Amino acid sequence: MSFGNHYYFPVSTTSFPKWIDRIMTSNINGSLPQSANVVVIGSGFAGTAVSYYLQNEIAGDQSIVMLEARAAVSGATSRNSGLIKPEYHRNHGEYVDKFGSKVAGQLVNFEVDNMKELARILTLDSDLNEKADFQERIHLDAYSNPRSSETAINDFYAFMENEEVSVDLKRKVQILFGDLAKQLSNVPTTPFVIHYPNGSVNSYDFVTAMLTRAIQKGLALYTNTLVEEVQQLDSGVWKVSTSRGELFADKVVFTTNAYTQGLLPEFSKSIIPIRGVSSQVNVRNTGNEHSLSIGSDIYVPQSKNLLYSSLGELEKQTNFMANYNTVDDSTVSSQSLEYLQKNLGKVNSLATATATSSSSGIMAYTDDHFPYVGQLSELGKLNAYILAGCNCSGLSRMLLCAKELAKSVALGSELSDRVPAPYKVTRERMGLVDKLMQSVLNEREIRETRARL
Ligand SMILES: Cc1cc2nc3c(=O)[nH]c(=O)nc-3n(C[C@H](O)[C@H](O)[C@H](O)COP(=O)(O)OP(=O)(O)OC[C@H]3O[C@@H](n4cnc5c(N)ncnc54)[C@H](O)[C@@H]3O)c2cc1C
Repeated sequence: MSFGNHYYFPVSTTSFPKWIDRIMTSNINGSLPQSANVVVIGSGFAGTAVSYYLQNEIAGDQSIVMLEARAAVSGATSRNSGLIKPEYHRNHGEYVDKFGSKVAGQLVNFEVDNMKELARILTLDSDLNEKADFQERIHLDAYSNPRSSETAINDFYAFMENEEVSVDLKRKVQILFGDLAKQLSNVPTTPFVIHYPNGSVNSYDFVTAMLTRAIQKGLALYTNTLVEEVQQLDSGVWKVSTSRGELFADKVVFTTNAYTQGLLPEFSKSIIPIRGVSSQVNVRNTGNEHSLSIGSDIYVPQSKNLLYSSLGELEKQTNFMANYNTVDDSTVSSQSLEYLQKNLGKVNSLATATATSSSSGIMAYTDDHFPYVGQLSELGKLNAYILAGCNCSGLSRMLLCAKELAKSVALGSELSDRVPAPYKVTRERMGLVDKLMQSVLNEREIRETRARL
């Protein structure tokens, strides 16, 4: 049984980013169906991808209903910068220490396979391909913080030494030092850059096109329908209570991302909403066609404008408390706008560029960087499934998570081992202490102690 916590429900007063000119709603009037085989909660990339695979490739004649609190795809998926950035070397040292080389290699290969899956579904469907506007390009990781550059070097060499990673991939991930790195990235403070192949999509157009495909195959989407409570009855059937009445389901799928603890308080320590911001910048790119990241700031050339997303306030810890543990994406604070504009200046070629419109987005932070994927049987809930907590890597991991989860939902089977073990739902993972908050508090204490001395 679970009871909703209103504080973590999506806020109704939000609006879409200004660069989105088309809003998708569905079945906003009339009553809900009384029952369905499967109810999917949330219409972001996660809910859409699970429904797409259920309807397109797996579920046969099961009835599938999707419930979305606001307009379709109005969460983080409509507010990100569209960068598909597999982790490859990032955090690799930590993963080898924690899980060993084999699992660390599997984590890398899973993201490589996700890129292949994206290519597969785009090749199958020309309309989806056109909407996705998928661009393959090179990504540069640049650094302005000595501590994160030291970690990046360790991660890079841990990745290169891991025999579970193919030589072919290692050849594609390269490091450049000194002036060459500064020139290539236009970031004068960076001691080196790590560059590797990645891609970008128009996230909103891509996901709404996938959703349209799922609807054409039979998915019933009800937008403007807030799920307020989800309860498993003694019979095993799920009672889903919404702002528009109740419906009953054999199976329920939580694709609620940063809002998960609103319906599943068991995740209150393990999936934490953190507010970031995305901006359209009045130039096409950063001086070259590469995408670029500096810490948690991401710069992505899109068809019309550069999109700049920032969760960098986390690292800098300015304004941290205002953005931590909040689901309010209706406003962008003036401090965040200042931060954005100031940080554009970290890139030489953007010194005179302007962030023309900005929008908040709620990221689902998990302490170990991984999403939660699978059945909720460890929590005593049967026929309940989750795909949530994608941090800032949703686009590079979602498809295969969703495909494997959809199989598990349709067949009632265990999640396959194709999904890396660190993504699976365990009580042990859920009990992790929130290191991010701890490190912020520690850093604050250090700074305040220094200031007092
Ligand atoms: C500023 C920012 C920039 C980002 N940039 C990138 C990037 O460049 N690349 C990348 O890979 N990732 C990026 N991300 C992360 C990426 O956006 C997410 O990983 C991905 O979109 C998550 O999709 P989702 O479906 O899990 O969540 P969401 O898109 O947030 O969808 C969850 C949906 O569930 C609905 N919902 C929740 N609770 C309820 C309820 N009780 N009842 C009904 N509906 C409910 C919400 O309204 C929402 O529509 C970024 C995130 C942010 C915030």
